[in-house]
Amino acid sequence: MTKEIEKKWQKRWDDAKLFQSDPNEKEKLFITVAYPYPSGAMHIGHGRTYTVPDVYARYKRMQGYNVLFPMGWHVTGAPVIGIASRIRDKDPWTLELYEKVHKVPKEELPKLIDPEYIVKYFSTEYHNVMSDMGYSIDWRREFRTTDPSYKKFVEWQLKQLKAQDLVKKGNHPVKYCPGCGNPIGDHDLLEGEGATINELTLLKFEIDGKYLVPATFRPETIYGATNLWMNPDVSYIEVEKGGDIKEKEGMKEDKNIEKEGDMEGDREIWIISEKSYNNLSNQFKDLKKLGNINPKELIGRFVKNPVTNTLHPILPASFVDPEYGSGEVFSVPAHAPADYIALQDLKNNLKLLEEYNLGKIVSKIEALNVVTLKRYSEIPAKDVIEKLQVKSQEDPKLEEATNELYKVEHSKGIISEHIPDCAGERVVDARESIKEKMIGDDLAEVMYDFSAHPVICRCGTHGVVKIMDNQWFLKYSDEDWKVKTRECLAQENIIPPEIRSNFDYYIGWLEDWACSRRIGLGTKLPWDSQWLIEPLTDSTIYMAYYTIAKYIKTMDPDILDDEFFNKVFLSEINENDSLSDEVKQIKEEFDYWYPLDWRLSAKDLVGNHLSFHMFHHATIFPKNKWPQGMVVFGMGLLEGNKMSSSKGNVILLSQAIEDYGADVVRLFLMSSAEPWQDFDWREKEVIGTKRRLEWFSEFADKIKEIKGANININNIEEVPLEREIDKWMISQLNLRIKDATIALESFQTRKALQDSFFLLKKDIDHYMYRTKHLIETKDSAVIYALSTVLKTWIKILAPFTPHTCEELWNTHGGEGFVIEEQWPIFNEDLIDVKIEKSEEIIQNIVKDIKHINDLTKKDAEKVHVYTAPEWKWKVYELADEIGKPDIGQIIGKSIKTNLNDNKKELSEFAKKITREMTKTKYVGKVDEIAILNNAIEFISEESGAEIIIHEDNSYDPKNKSKHAIPYKPALYIE
Ligand SMILES: [Zn+2]
Repeated sequence: MTKEIEKKWQKRWDDAKLFQSDPNEKEKLFITVAYPYPSGAMHIGHGRTYTVPDVYARYKRMQGYNVLFPMGWHVTGAPVIGIASRIRDKDPWTLELYEKVHKVPKEELPKLIDPEYIVKYFSTEYHNVMSDMGYSIDWRREFRTTDPSYKKFVEWQLKQLKAQDLVKKGNHPVKYCPGCGNPIGDHDLLEGEGATINELTLLKFEIDGKYLVPATFRPETIYGATNLWMNPDVSYIEVEKGGDIKEKEGMKEDKNIEKEGDMEGDREIWIISEKSYNNLSNQFKDLKKLGNINPKELIGRFVKNPVTNTLHPILPASFVDPEYGSGEVFSVPAHAPADYIALQDLKNNLKLLEEYNLGKIVSKIEALNVVTLKRYSEIPAKDVIEKLQVKSQEDPKLEEATNELYKVEHSKGIISEHIPDCAGERVVDARESIKEKMIGDDLAEVMYDFSAHPVICRCGTHGVVKIMDNQWFLKYSDEDWKVKTRECLAQENIIPPEIRSNFDYYIGWLEDWACSRRIGLGTKLPWDSQWLIEPLTDSTIYMAYYTIAKYIKTMDPDILDDEFFNKVFLSEINENDSLSDEVKQIKEEFDYWYPLDWRLSAKDLVGNHLSFHMFHHATIFPKNKWPQGMVVFGMGLLEGNKMSSSKGNVILLSQAIEDYGADVVRLFLMSSAEPWQDFDWREKEVIGTKRRLEWFSEFADKIKEIKGANININNIEEVPLEREIDKWMISQLNLRIKDATIALESFQTRKALQDSFFLLKKDIDHYMYRTKHLIETKDSAVIYALSTVLKTWIKILAPFTPHTCEELWNTHGGEGFVIEEQWPIFNEDLIDVKIEKSEEIIQNIVKDIKHINDLTKKDAEKVHVYTAPEWKWKVYELADEIGKPDIGQIIGKSIKTNLNDNKKELSEFAKKITREMTKTKYVGKVDEIAILNNAIEFISEESGAEIIIHEDNSYDPKNKSKHAIPYKPALYIE
């Protein structure tokens, strides 16, 4: 049933062309969300991403904006090539993933050996599911990034950058997948997203004419080396460096690379861990595997320090990670907490000492100071370990100790007096000069490694850092470009605001970016056709393409030359140029929609996609076309675990729609977390959401029942409201509209629904309970209030649950589409805090009586109610004027104005309200006697007692009336 209703409305919207947005006289709003990379089916995580802009788009349309919400498919890149080839190879894991998780029918599966078919298949799937979700997309602008006209657009973009000297050729370290034969970005990864590339220095320690080559961040500590660490449980190999280039292995791909650097004479043998070979061989082109070497035979022997020529023993350590650096570590116990504690551990490990016969050697080792630090001893590592109470090598606090000491020595350390050459220099300066000198003397090399391991490509291969030759780079390191980009950031709205500093950080931190690839789908570099433009580069300014896509996708791509795009996007028109009507119209459409008002995307893309978006806009477009706003999303969890298609931990969106209907899915996704928070799909809660939505749907029937006739929301009979409780309902309704509107303005979908759905439902429940005796009599004011609530409620929920709202609107007399209605405007005059307070007083009295009944274990028969005397209200008013809980001032002023002759009573009361001031929100004096009299029936019915309201205190046998304070009448129970 739900599905039929949803389909019916989707078709009606479609037939009415409601979401086809063309320029008109209205104010425009252009919103986009990251276009998907359709290499698999859409899951509920994607559902949240694409529902947020739809809700906002619908909300803004109701506010009268001309809203453009388009969608395209980002099919550029290598991942589908890998998927296709694994399906061709009948890789069981991939086949199962596509059959079981992505639910590809058996007869379709064999067709996925064609990467083009994969993107076609899944972009169609995305399109259909998005339609089933009821998204208000202008589908006329749909495109794939491999469309010929899009390629023309990207070529133009790259030529613009090249003309501005922002593209260069060079050799750079990049994240690389040896399996795919391609550089990889964060979204090509299964694991290791966010790992950065660090530069390390490899130092050569000689043994038998060969070298152990531990890598370090801190070459200056070479003077403090005491020993080397090798892991006896790891396999090590010998490699030849600097042999004949033609014999090198694994370089099949880059045949035409010229040899640089090392010449024949530099031939060296290095000993490294087998696991580090993959990474190092992608950086040193001439590495050649020779054979295995047993680390146990090296332990206990000595290597020569390349700077001091001292001999250091090689010692065993389990903490040495074979994947990091070269799988070897040189030990500086004075300045590296890990080395210090490893040495302590070894000194106490008699078994190990005996096994390698190390007892004598180890007992002689003493930490050697290199850096002087104020307030630290000669062995700062020891100080930090003692301060943080690090117990052993396995203690997690060890990392904290390492980081702390690294930071302090980096910023405040001075090289100690006894160190030759650089005594007295700052650590940072000495580090650079020592590194340069050692490299110059051929005692060290630069290498790169990931900041965190492992980094695993989507294809399953471990990533490496590769030095790419003759690669094309975008110069994100360019200072002028960074300045412009920061300007762009400064004029943008960023939601949530705390993300702004992340952008600022990434703009500063970004280095040159490898923008070309050898393999994949996409656009070729216009000036070097052996290279393809990679997917993070061809997806930076495509929002501009949406504005004109409906025209140019049918045009002959040959017409779409640079001149065309320059005219449309940059207004580069010569005086004697006469624009064809077509080009003129295209240009006008771009000028109407651009700049982009909002761009929505995920928070893990801040450092690349979203920053690049700003970089490219800032340098290609004039300032008045720069993006105006950005909303950054959190992640999706499934029953508390991270959602991941490749791990099978997902629910497909199509399945969720099948099970619950699109509106329940939308409502759950929008109400369980704000867009920037992580949300958690929990089935139990989704079912709860479904029930609430059903309650909303049935609400109209309830009013119909009360009225005993059909309701016509288009023609509600207005009745003047006299009773406080009716005014209260209308006041609450306006308050909820107000809060929801403010929340939606800043994309707080959860807050908006809290106010307009959950809290408003509570208000309605309360109102219907309070008026239950009136409902029985078909009271016209109640029917009016409830009908008004219904009409407004359908409108406020229309952006969130559009199908349900259309259906309700339609069946209860609404004309046209509800989503074409005007968004409810709240009336500040109808939001009455005093009425809110009045209702609170009544609820509290009922609660108090019930509470006393519980305590005394009997039902009260008579309840006497006493209200606060005039002078207490005056003290409250005074306190409110003073504005802070200042007892002295409140008492002083009260006495001065002589509010009460009994000074003791006065000051006691002043003290009391000072304590309660912040709790009790003072909204002015209310007529408590009238309020109570109006609700006397209700209070009596609820408490089951006779209620007597006293205007004076002539009957007060237990002297209770003195406890009455404003908003909190005193009770005497008989
Ligand atoms: Zn790969």
